[in-house]
Parts: sequence; C-alpha cells; structure tokens
Amino acid sequence: FSSTELTTQFLRRIKQFNPEYNAFITIDEEISLAQAKAADKMIATGQAGPLTGIPIAQKDIFCAKGWLTTCGSRMLSNFVSPYDAGVIERFNQAGAINIGKTNMDEFAMGSSNETSYYGMVKNPWDIAAVPGGSSGGAACAVAARLAPAATGTDTGGSIRQPAALCGISGIKPTYGLVSRYGMIAFASSLDQGGPMAKSAEDLALLLNVMTGFDPRDSTSLRRDAEDYTQDLQKPLAGLRIGLPKEYFAEGMSQDVANAIEKALIEYRKLGAQTVEVSLPNAPLSIPVYYVLAPAEASSNLSRFDGVRYGYRAPSYSDLADMYRKTRAQGFGAEVKRRILIGTYVLSHGYYDAYYIKAQKLRRLIAQDFTEAYKQCDIIMGPTTPTVAFNLGEKSGDPIQMYLSDIYTSAANLAGMPAMSIPIGFGDKNRPIGLHIMGNYFKEAQMLNIAHQYQ
Ligand code: GLN
Repeated sequence: FSSTELTTQFLRRIKQFNPEYNAFITIDEEISLAQAKAADKMIATGQAGPLTGIPIAQKDIFCAKGWLTTCGSRMLSNFVSPYDAGVIERFNQAGAINIGKTNMDEFAMGSSNETSYYGMVKNPWDIAAVPGGSSGGAACAVAARLAPAATGTDTGGSIRQPAALCGISGIKPTYGLVSRYGMIAFASSLDQGGPMAKSAEDLALLLNVMTGFDPRDSTSLRRDAEDYTQDLQKPLAGLRIGLPKEYFAEGMSQDVANAIEKALIEYRKLGAQTVEVSLPNAPLSIPVYYVLAPAEASSNLSRFDGVRYGYRAPSYSDLADMYRKTRAQGFGAEVKRRILIGTYVLSHGYYDAYYIKAQKLRRLIAQDFTEAYKQCDIIMGPTTPTVAFNLGEKSGDPIQMYLSDIYTSAANLAGMPAMSIPIGFGDKNRPIGLHIMGNYFKEAQMLNIAHQYQ
C-alpha cells in the first residue's frame, strides 16, 4: 500500500480516538497528505529510505515550519514556526510524514502530562491513569496506534518514563547526538531528543535518521555516522549486567520488583550474568536535577517576554507591565514554580550553596557511572518506581511528582544514553518498563540487548 493510504489510515484513527486521549495538539491533514504524496513519488522513483512514507508524530517542542508549535504552553499558543528544527529537517529529508504535533507538559516540565495548557492526556491502557510525561502525548499516540512512531525529548526522564507507563519503547541518546536546534529549550545541558516506538528495531531505524552533527547546535557532536541496526541480532552470551544496589534498595513497588526479577531471569537465559554495582551518589540525582534544571529553565524562558513572538497580554499600562502581565498569563503554575526556584538558586548569596554545589554533585554522579562500567557492560533497573498513577493523584504534590524520575534523571546528569522497554504488566494491569542504561555511545549495544528480549 502507498504512503497516502497509510497516512490516511492513521489520520482516521487520530480523528476517532484523539477526542478521548488528547494525544495531539495539532493535526494538519493537508500538510501530512501532501508529504505522503511526495513520499509516494520518492518510492516510485526508487529514492526511498527506510522511513520514506512513514508517519511520525512530532512532539510539540520541535519547531516545524508552517505548524503551530506550542510547547504545551499558552505562551506559544499563537506561534506558527517559520523554520524546521534539525530533527524535523532530518525526518523531512528521509521522506517521513509529520502526522501531527503531540501534547506534552508545558515546556516539558512534568511527569504526567497534566501541566499542558491543552489539557491532560490519558493512558490508553487505562483512561483513569496518567500517560507519564513530559512526552505523554507521544507515548499515548504510539501505544494507541495513532502513529507508528514518535519523537520525544528527555531532560530528566521525559522519553523513558512515559514510554514505561504506556508500554512502549523509548531511548534517550548520549547528550549531543541529536540536534537541539529548533527544539525549544528547557534545560539545555540536559535536554536530548530521541525516538519512541513499539520496538527496539524501530528505535534503531529512527535513530539512524535523527542523529548527526548540526553546526547550529553548539553542543552537537561531530562523529561518524553509525548504523544502529547493525548489532540487533548479536547474541548476548557473556554480557555483564550491572544492578546498582541503590536502585534495588527501597521505593520500588512489589509488582515492579517482580517484573524486573522476571526480566533478569530472561536475560540470564540469554547468556548474560548479573553483577552488583554501586552508584553511591545516585540518590542525590533528584535534588541535583531540581536545582540545575530550574536554573537553566529560568534563563531559557526569559526570552518569552511578549515582544518578539508568542502570547502578549491584551492590555497593559507600560513596558514593564506588559512583561509582567504577559508572563503572568502566559505561563502555568509549574513553569512559574521552576522559574522561581531557578532564579533563587542562581541569585547572589545562594549561588555557591545551591547551584555550584549541585554542579559538583553532578560530576560525582557521572563519575559513579564511569566507575560502575569498569565492572559491567550495561546497567539495568526499573524505569519508574510504580506503574502509572491515577490522573489527579500527584498533581497537587510537586515533590511526589518529582520523584517519578528517581531512576531516570541520573542519565541526563551524566549525559549517558538510557532507554526503557516494556516487560509486562503490574498492578491494575498497567505497563512496566525495564530501564537499560549504557556508557557513552553504547546505543547500538543497548538496542541489541532490548531487541534480544523482545
Ligand atoms: N519530570 C521531569 C521534570 O519535570 C523531567 C521532564 C523532562 O525530562 N522533560 O522536569
């Protein structure tokens, strides 16, 4: 069948199910179908690559030319991007179809998709549950088969946590592999884009398109292109899986612990062995993350002032009043909380006590991993401490919400790759994810390990 047929079919499913799930903020049939038509031409003339004609749901944090790009915020509720993000450009060049822009927590701040200005997203496995966040729309879209694959971004867990809670796969690559150009900045030293899909094989195909040097991103890495599908079939005999004792100590619910244990038995059958490792500073990841991420966010979000683009308050008395009202009306509560925390930890008198201290701890957390990888090839654990919680359950308690990323945020602080794959179901039949972490640039090996399990 043609890309036009495929695209039409997914658009039909989106129309049918999106009113209930709210996974998409914007769909534009005209653009999607025009891209499908062009892809069909590429296929007919023998110019097709692996993703030509394949619909991809794009997180609404990626600027896409001619598309409303909101980042889940009222602040950008009228922003039609005049240019493509590096990632979008790469998908376009590959002939992929943009099937729509997915819902997300406002400016990617959240773990449940409840902070979006465009309303919460539902978990397709159980509509009483959150899909996770911030890439909740992306995870929901893939899980509900509204799109074959999606993009996400991960600053502290936003690809892996929603992937786990929605029973799909997602990978956050090594920092610097995927261009941040045109990816609306939250915490620039932690933000990394990555794919979300059904299987490790799909993730590998998507990574092949998404990664690559981009001179417009100052932290983009110049590396030879890698084929992430190359190792998928490798046997796992001799693989050393590190199990950090700090991650297995407490906080994990019983259903999650059981599922992880079962997955590890499976890996031992595949020829892997497990070794205990230690990440002594890992328990500090959440406090360190919640100093550094808000600090960077407070700086990044200062560009939204009502002058250049985006929302502007309709009435004001002078310039200062315009800034004040625009930001008061344009940002939601969680974003304001982050800006306040960020400006506080960066302010004179607190900078050394909080920001500098967190930077030092960040280094120690990264060093723990480097040490651990001397004793093992890969680290495994749960992606999340529990299965998806109920909508509304944690939205009034930011600290509880922040703890959703207890296992995921360390990889961002270290800049190392990490992924989540579905390994079964726990309480209330809600999905559970296995967290696979690797050393810098070990994506191909991690995808191999994920693929052998599935
Ligand atoms: N949940 C974390 C936060 O709210 C991480 C979000 C993300 O990775 N974008 O900051």
